[in-house]
Amino acid sequence: PRASRVPHRREDLRVSFEFFPPKIEEMEKTLWDSIERLAPLRPNFVSVTYGAGGSTRERTHATVKRILDETALTPAAHLTCVAATRDEVDDVVRGYLSAGVRHIVALRGDPVAGIGTAYAPHPGGYVNAADLVGGIKRLAAAEKTDIEVSVSAYPERHPESPSDTVDLDMLAAKVDAGATRAITQFFFDNELYLRYLDRVRARGITIPIVPGILPVQNFTLTRSFAAKAGASIPSWLADRFAGLEDDAATRKLIAAAVAAEQVFDLVDRGVTEFHFYTMNRADLVYAVCHLLGLRPAAAPAAEARAEAAA
Ligand code: FAD
Repeated sequence: PRASRVPHRREDLRVSFEFFPPKIEEMEKTLWDSIERLAPLRPNFVSVTYGAGGSTRERTHATVKRILDETALTPAAHLTCVAATRDEVDDVVRGYLSAGVRHIVALRGDPVAGIGTAYAPHPGGYVNAADLVGGIKRLAAAEKTDIEVSVSAYPERHPESPSDTVDLDMLAAKVDAGATRAITQFFFDNELYLRYLDRVRARGITIPIVPGILPVQNFTLTRSFAAKAGASIPSWLADRFAGLEDDAATRKLIAAAVAAEQVFDLVDRGVTEFHFYTMNRADLVYAVCHLLGLRPAAAPAAEARAEAAA
């Protein structure tokens, strides 16, 4: 019913935003414009992805560091262990710890030869995401600090997974190693997420499983991401974008409506935390957060935060 979809109490809702480190200067401006636009919504954290095979190691670090230095936001750095030795990965973690980063999104990463090929751990590396989570927690403990570690979760199962059980075993191993939050692969059919959540809870896993919401900036690109990620595209979603190939303005309105409908339905069913895949664009995410009842607040300056922490 519509009545339940009025904005919720701000303190009950938590959102986080995911960005990727830009390749070129022009994209750098788009990213920072988006961060500035979204920051006043006071996200729980903002995360920065790590390029395939560690290809953005420096750029991820630089973006995370700039968020820490120039904004009042809490950054979370994505990190993968594919194609890297344990020492190389540990160096990245130590670099984050000494820069003051206290949240890592720990992932295995995709096979170097591409999605769909067999994954082989680096001979001297962490074998999978659970192993990486344990390594990160140990490095933080060695420096007498703690670090929050989030991990991935797959409502439709990871494409390499032979069964739901194996998939949940992997999630459970990541939790046992110290992960305290999972962020899901994007999905469009909320039933898939809710059924997955039931399986996760039945398995005795109690950490938050935060739905990853992908506002559809570009339907063609979304369909190709989904095919690689093992996420399904419902026919009703394809229908909604059909015929709008040359009509960007209507596509954007539809995208906002679709994402709003998805989050409202989840809120109605008790979900209070959302992770948005922003693709470095603020408009759709800002609009959906506004519909959720989030309003901008003057963000305290980074210096004020530093003083408060001192
Ligand atoms: P894991 O959790 O280790 O494994 C994923 C699944 O694979 C398991 O649940 C299981 O079903 C199956 N599996 C793995 N190993 C085995 C095994 N030995 N036997 C049987 N089944 C197995 N990629 C990047 O490169 N950079 C990023 O910044 C990034 N960010 C992401 C953020 C989120 C929220 C998500 C959902 C994914 C992200 N990815 C990123 C993609 C991720 O790296 C890939 O999906 C990768 O293929 C798996 O990594 P993982 O950490 O999920 O793996």
